[in-house]
Amino acid sequence: MRILIVEDEVTLNNTLAEGLKEFGYQSDVAENLSDAKYLIDIRNYDLVLLDWMLPDGNGIDIIKDIKKKSQKTAVIVLSARDDKESEIAALKAGADDYIRKPFDFEVLLMRIEAKLRFGASNIIQIGDLIINPEEEKIIYKGESVELKGKPFEVLTHLAMRRDQIVSKEQLLDAIWEEPELVTPNVIEVAINQIRQKMDKALGITTVETVRRRGYRFCFSDEA
Ligand code: CA
Repeated sequence: MRILIVEDEVTLNNTLAEGLKEFGYQSDVAENLSDAKYLIDIRNYDLVLLDWMLPDGNGIDIIKDIKKKSQKTAVIVLSARDDKESEIAALKAGADDYIRKPFDFEVLLMRIEAKLRFGASNIIQIGDLIINPEEEKIIYKGESVELKGKPFEVLTHLAMRRDQIVSKEQLLDAIWEEPELVTPNVIEVAINQIRQKMDKALGITTVETVRRRGYRFCFSDEA
């Protein structure tokens, strides 16, 4: 999950970035509109936290650009404006949610999770296979497997989207710190690790390659 924080208050954007990291989200920070536009153009975001008043303009003016890039990107406007007219204006401009400043981080996190319908601490269990993202643990029929780091994150990302084809680009955006600086073959390396360290060791198949489209988590408990 990748989140863009558009916020010019340095203390606040640092707190947000650190807090989100703790809960397993990758985030980027833009302190003005032009940096935000640049990042939206080169990367894919699941969600944007958007401050209203920025040094070079109004945050809500870029909502249409965000939605044009991807309708699926959720936008939460953060603003010190506490009148209902501002809230209505933000929602009319296409925001999915509006949070007044100052806000509680825990509440913000819950609103983010609600928007992403994603529980960072969810244990995935499919038949005898248990994947625990918080502890980076995989257990199958009581046997545990050593799979850490990026391959584990790729596996978790795919397992959470069972039966969906996920492209290399989507995996890069969701998992790598700076996706445009790595070559897509890092995904192949991660998939290979999953197959060697996990599938081969356990005698199961968890991830299939869908030619030219990406990968799909294909393990099922009916096997
Ligand atoms: Ca501001």
